[in-house]
Amino acid sequence: MVLQNKIPQASAKRLPLYYRFINNLHIQGKTRVSSKELSEAVKVDPATIRRDFSYFGALGKKGYGYNVEHLLSFFRKTLDHDELTEVALIGVGNLGTAFLHYNFMKNNNTKIVKAFDAEPSKVGFDIGGIPVLHIDELEEKMQGIHVAILTVPSSEAEGITERLVNTGVSGILNFTPARITVPDNIRVHHIDLAVELQALVYFLKHYPLDEEGKKE
Ligand code: ATP
Repeated sequence: MVLQNKIPQASAKRLPLYYRFINNLHIQGKTRVSSKELSEAVKVDPATIRRDFSYFGALGKKGYGYNVEHLLSFFRKTLDHDELTEVALIGVGNLGTAFLHYNFMKNNNTKIVKAFDAEPSKVGFDIGGIPVLHIDELEEKMQGIHVAILTVPSSEAEGITERLVNTGVSGILNFTPARITVPDNIRVHHIDLAVELQALVYFLKHYPLDEEGKKE
């Protein structure tokens, strides 16, 4: 299979999702998969899957589906050839420490490579194999890193964001409850775990699911 020159962004975004599922099928010893099965597992409609796979150069056979091994080697090759995106983490508290240990090991193309903190007792150590540097060194040590995870207290979020913007980051994954302001050319994804959890609890109380998993 040959990767077509221009895969639409939306299809390319689903590559890791497909890869994870196909890899699981392979581990279970399955040799083929239909677009319907794939669709149910990854929650993408079968027509989109067929279109995506045709961009990837994979054509399923009627009544057979897709060959798992072929797909797997295609996804491995394509995703492994992707450059590794190095990520910095700012704020090595409880959440930050957990991320350093977790470090997205199951993603092959993103990795936290350094962390920063203001607390002298945390600086100079490795956590999960990742060095913790002093925040004063941010501007100097962010060279070549364009993605940052923010796990500082919310009172610090805006100030740190400004400094990150000046270092030339292009993306920030913001885990603080603070809403941060950035120029238009910088992408911020905001994940507030407390809000998500509260929303889930609220929905459980006020929008109970019926047996089929649909809203009443
Ligand atoms: P802990 O119990 O380890 O303090 P926490 O998650 O409850 O964890 P927070 O007060 O949320 O702690 O702070 C998160 C981390 O951000 C801490 O390690 C703290 O030292 C660090 N931190 C605070 N201010 C800054 C700053 N300006 N720059 C970098 N790191 C900072």
